Amino acid sequence: MRTLHELFENNKRWAKSITERDPEFFPTLSKQQAPKYLWIGCSDSRVPANEIVGLMPGELFVHRNVANMVIHTDLNCLSVIQYAVDVLQVEHIMVCGHYGCGGIMAAMQYSSHGLIDNWLRHVQDVIRKHSSVLNTITDGKEKLDKLCELNVVEQVINVCQTTIVESAWARGQKLSIHGWLYGLSDGLLHDLSICITGTDEIDDISQAALSRLTKAYTK
Ligand SMILES: [Zn+2]
Repeated sequence: MRTLHELFENNKRWAKSITERDPEFFPTLSKQQAPKYLWIGCSDSRVPANEIVGLMPGELFVHRNVANMVIHTDLNCLSVIQYAVDVLQVEHIMVCGHYGCGGIMAAMQYSSHGLIDNWLRHVQDVIRKHSSVLNTITDGKEKLDKLCELNVVEQVINVCQTTIVESAWARGQKLSIHGWLYGLSDGLLHDLSICITGTDEIDDISQAALSRLTKAYTK
């Protein structure tokens, strides 16, 4: 091993501390996983899914990408959702964005960063959809944070509209989709008060959330 020695040392310490507390932890976990939750979050290194919600290995199924997007043609994300819902039978999917998201900021600034520009086009679709509200906000930080919130609502709707989730609800599977925002500056989660548990709730609950989030900016 030539490099990154310290990371392997960290790993040994981490595994040792868990084994000391529970000698059966890893042997038990190696046989199966039964998480109740699927976390869809941003790749940002400051938003570590398990740590934020205090869950151990085995308790949270995770998908992360830049700006926590759920794109209907993204086979990676769709495969994660499908496996989580159909095989692991998770009961909750949370889309968790975060304030001050660099991906969202890059999309908002229409600046060029290479290949990722293509990915961020999807955020720009969200910007166009909510331009009437966003254009009323002059403060850059406020606008960014509002877009982070609106983006989570749109991605929650996208999760709900996947054939995977629609089919799960149609067969009576218990499944709730949530929209959250994480604060980098205080480490706290904010619930956007979106909890959708069936196809017939998508429009009303997402519209109510969007109205709450944009109330201060609309006449
Ligand atoms: Zn981010």
